[in-house]
Amino acid sequence: MGVINIPVYVHVVYSNSVENISSAQVNSQISVLNADFRKTNNDANQLPSEFDNAITDSEIEFTLAGTFRYASSNTSWGTNDAVKSAYPPITPETHLNIWVCSIGGGILGYAQFPGGNSSTDGVVIGTQYFGSTGYVAAPFDKGRTGTHEVGHYLNLRHIWGDGRCRQDDFVADTPSSDGPNYGCPSYPTVNCKSNDMTMNYMDYTNDTCMYMFSDGQRNRMRAIFAPGGSRAALAGN
Ligand SMILES: [Zn+2]
Repeated sequence: MGVINIPVYVHVVYSNSVENISSAQVNSQISVLNADFRKTNNDANQLPSEFDNAITDSEIEFTLAGTFRYASSNTSWGTNDAVKSAYPPITPETHLNIWVCSIGGGILGYAQFPGGNSSTDGVVIGTQYFGSTGYVAAPFDKGRTGTHEVGHYLNLRHIWGDGRCRQDDFVADTPSSDGPNYGCPSYPTVNCKSNDMTMNYMDYTNDTCMYMFSDGQRNRMRAIFAPGGSRAALAGN
């Protein structure tokens, strides 16, 4: 299994002209996904040497297959999949569907893990946290919400395992932690008697302070594309 290419449909749902984001903003998100999943992002040079052996090229790429635009009077969609009911995913078995809309409540985005209902499969990202140019809001203006949510869509958990020290993320090379990190943590940040991988895309840090997937995460993501895997059809298997 070499480089995997995932076709992407983007659904832009807007209640005003500003939210009807430019094609350049859509393309910038695809570019960020490709850079981050191929480890060609130019900020990985900050990586502490402790994690030199963990950082990896996931060999997953993304191609924009279509952008769909929908005007709506709804100004806040929440996290209960309402936007997906209003504008259903298109061939979710073979395409990653991303909805871009105002979620509200300070939520950056949310994703469905593999194996769920196909009618709600995909990723939702708040308009101002989507892409790295145009109508974006710091400190989440570098497209890393997209990288994080697509990580969930490809079976990754948060690096603290959503629990205390012994709660695992099912990835061996991300050190244990007891909760999320925010902002831009200094190195080392010690929790559970080890240095947190705060620069991992699956933490909660600012966009400019996360810049890596680990080898274990790569393997966990790629396993779902193998024949019989939960997203095999996405990779043509
Ligand atoms: Zn998350």
